[in-house]
Amino acid sequence: MAAHPDDLEFSCAGTLALWARQGTKVIYLICTSGEAGFDQPNLSREERIAIREAEQRAAAEVLGVNQVVFLREPDGLLQPNLELRRKIVREIRRFQPEAVVCWDPAVLWISDSMVNHPDHRAAAQATVDAVFPSAGLLYLHEDFLAEGLKPWKPDRLVIVRFDGGDTFMDIEETIELKIAAMKKHKSQIKEWDPEPFIRKVAERQGRAGGMKYAEAFKIIQLHKPLV
Ligand SMILES: [Zn+2]
Repeated sequence: MAAHPDDLEFSCAGTLALWARQGTKVIYLICTSGEAGFDQPNLSREERIAIREAEQRAAAEVLGVNQVVFLREPDGLLQPNLELRRKIVREIRRFQPEAVVCWDPAVLWISDSMVNHPDHRAAAQATVDAVFPSAGLLYLHEDFLAEGLKPWKPDRLVIVRFDGGDTFMDIEETIELKIAAMKKHKSQIKEWDPEPFIRKVAERQGRAGGMKYAEAFKIIQLHKPLV
């Protein structure tokens, strides 16, 4: 679950590729189609959406992702409102995931040179709120029942961490796929080679987790007893 095409490749694609390789069904839910992420003039909104969705589908294919769903909310203007939450609840009830992966809505700075995009925070906030409690409540969004969409409580919320975290996934066997998938976002990376950056971040997180290359997460066990 992410705000833009390329967010998942940028953050947790090594883990998603690993899960796909192990037979886990992986679904992407992308809130916007990233149509604001261009600086060339004279590209229509439809053209920009088509470019970024095609790049996202190509990246997902590299990783072994089973399906990509776009909500087509307006890029750059995403709000964590009840409308977005409801749309995410619908998809959670439709796909009934064991785990929902998203970014951390509380993160304002990803690093000392990177502000966390407000769309990232909005998508993450709406996702956390959709996972708990909205998706699992019988008497919320009751109209979904008529569509056969019953309440669903995922087992785990998996929060992407750029530093810290309590769980480290060893991505040594999938880091090449992460790099290859990131390179599919040609409209975004342009001449930039993402490989050194991806390796550097994975090495840093690997050091924290005692691995060569890792991705870091905070896991919320939603079915765990309180005591
Ligand atoms: Zn983004």
